[in-house]
Amino acid sequence: MKFDTHVVVDWSAGKRAPARPSKDSIWIGISRGTGDDEPVYCRSRQDAESHLAALIAAERDAGRRMMIGFDFPFGYPKGLARKITGTDDVFALWAWLEERISDLPDGANNRYDVASEMNGFFDGPGPFWGKPNERDWPEIPYRKAGIVFDEVAEKRHCDLAGKASSSCFQLAFPPTVGGQVLMGLPVLSRLRRLDGVAVWPFEDTSDAAVVVVEIWPGLIEPAVKEVKVRASGEIRDRVQVRLLARALSRLPHDELAELMAAPPQESHEEGWILGAGHVARLSELALGAPDTGEGPEPPPLRNDCFALPAGVNWTPVDQALDLLRTRLNPIAGAEKSPVRSALGRVLASDVIAERSNPPAANSAVDGFGFAGGASEGKHRLQLVEGRAAAGAPYDGKVPSGRAIRILTGAPLPEGVDTVILEEDVTVADGQIAFRGPLKRGANARKAGEDVAAGDVVLPAGRRLTPADLALLSAVGPARVDLRRALRVAVISTGDELAEPGKPLNPGQIHDANRPMLLAMLARFAFEPVDMGIVPDDRQALRARLDAAAEQADVILTSGGASAGDEDHVSALLREAGAMQEWRIAVKPGRPLALGLWAGKPVFGLPGNPVAAMVCTLVFARPALCLLAGEGWQEPQGFTLPAAFEKRKKPGRREYLRARIREGRAEVFASEGSGRISGLSWAEGLVELEDGERHIRPGDPVRYIPFGSFAL
Ligand code: AMP
Ligand code: MG
Repeated sequence: MKFDTHVVVDWSAGKRAPARPSKDSIWIGISRGTGDDEPVYCRSRQDAESHLAALIAAERDAGRRMMIGFDFPFGYPKGLARKITGTDDVFALWAWLEERISDLPDGANNRYDVASEMNGFFDGPGPFWGKPNERDWPEIPYRKAGIVFDEVAEKRHCDLAGKASSSCFQLAFPPTVGGQVLMGLPVLSRLRRLDGVAVWPFEDTSDAAVVVVEIWPGLIEPAVKEVKVRASGEIRDRVQVRLLARALSRLPHDELAELMAAPPQESHEEGWILGAGHVARLSELALGAPDTGEGPEPPPLRNDCFALPAGVNWTPVDQALDLLRTRLNPIAGAEKSPVRSALGRVLASDVIAERSNPPAANSAVDGFGFAGGASEGKHRLQLVEGRAAAGAPYDGKVPSGRAIRILTGAPLPEGVDTVILEEDVTVADGQIAFRGPLKRGANARKAGEDVAAGDVVLPAGRRLTPADLALLSAVGPARVDLRRALRVAVISTGDELAEPGKPLNPGQIHDANRPMLLAMLARFAFEPVDMGIVPDDRQALRARLDAAAEQADVILTSGGASAGDEDHVSALLREAGAMQEWRIAVKPGRPLALGLWAGKPVFGLPGNPVAAMVCTLVFARPALCLLAGEGWQEPQGFTLPAAFEKRKKPGRREYLRARIREGRAEVFASEGSGRISGLSWAEGLVELEDGERHIRPGDPVRYIPFGSFAL
């Protein structure tokens, strides 16, 4: 739920305002994330409508997603729409109003006539009330007294939830929200018909370029007060739109998504104020320094981070891995995020338990609680009235020698430290009978026996699992420091490559590496950035690397990494002066080209899909995990009997595509590094050590399941 531009409109039902910016006119606040624009002053509703229509077109054409908030109700209390139009469809009511409301450039309009017509649908006075004088519009009561809000409620559910003082039926005397609704909805009805516009919460807004929402400046009132409007001389309405647009733009995406996720049922007809009930959070965002939540940026990588020791011809795998481990450091910054959106993200700092688990001693079973355990032999205890259940604790004290009915998870009442299982008890005449012995403390969980408040429950660098979310929810803070997901760009290089799905010219093949690499990165919980295919052309590759370095933290290329004529990745990195050709003693895998491009690490992978995948798993993934702040990740393998025979020469490590069947590791029939089908057949890799080996069926080999690489 990400928006590039946030706009907040303070609406008005009044006459055309003076040329000099004043209150009681229309103000538009705009925040674009990078900073706030000066609020726009509009003298009339027509001015505002054309300004907004132009803004919608401009932002949409620039590919910028926009949210526009208006500060008047988008609907009326439940039942009104049906009364007037015969349907509950809010847009039918918008259209009904659009047809009737007239609004002249000087602001003269017929809102009282239209309100009179609407009152005509109801028995008795109202519901619309309030007018400039007692004589005109006999259908509209001058005062509220005497109106019975029985056919429709006076306020919407969200007005009640937000403790708003206004009602959309009040037409005169501040707050004149009623007039703003009548003069606003026809404008919304027209804006909604523009390309790409959808209205929350009535429509699906997930893919809309422009999302229109209802907002309310009351949500940032504490911040507005803080700005000391009177002393500053700034017009209050202007401060409101400026601060509210800023607060919305600073709201982290997941929090915004949560606010928009599931508005209450009533909102389908009545509308809802986005952010209702979140005054403290929005005010905090409106005031504070830009809350990107980011800590200090980690230090950049050193230019020589990929340098290899001089004079080594083929670097052994372990040495190559050691070099990566010692030269690289985390480069992803950190931000505070809510726990519920933290799955797969990396903790930037240790998490300390704020609460103990369990917070209080409680029963581990359904049964009967009493004090002190029980000795060998028969026992009989009188039951007290009442029971203790999870969520409904027993307040009283259980006297010594008495017992109480207790259910799993119920806090132990005062006077209880032992619980006997209900299956081991007979109950009759308000008494329980059972046989001892039973240890004191049996079937009871102690407070903090799992986690004590103050413990480090999860360390910095932890990539959070579903179980971690349970742990954090039970004991941790609601928001944790997370590393920003590492953005990893993927580029395929080669004149022969065609986009998957496109027809092939002679000599072409489909790009198989890029879909695979992007998918692997997604599995590793990085943020893949697809940079497409580049032909074997140095200029084109240079431009693509520049673009990738702009958008991503790390770049993966495949193909063109050797030292041949068409190996432009290595040539360019060498030219940039920060390239190393890593000739690693590994099969499959031709040289890797490692380097920095515009300060961003580049992993130049071999073009062969098998080598590209193996090199990504063995070399790139642990390096990426380090850069992402997760620390060095060793895949966990185990030893199994081989189901195959193979002779292996000394001098390099080999990885075979493998899987387990009947407890033995079998390997793919062909070792050809272009055999993509074998990659798909495999469920893991067999790793054969650097030395010479002759493996016979039944001999132990090391197997690493793909799951150990987080695939
Ligand atoms: P290179 O490393 O560029 O010399 O490529 C080695 C082999 O891998 C050649 O047969 C290429 O056609 C093939 N290859 C390179 N990139 C890809 C790719 N993205 N998808 C499938 N095969 C590729
Ligand atoms: Mg090539």
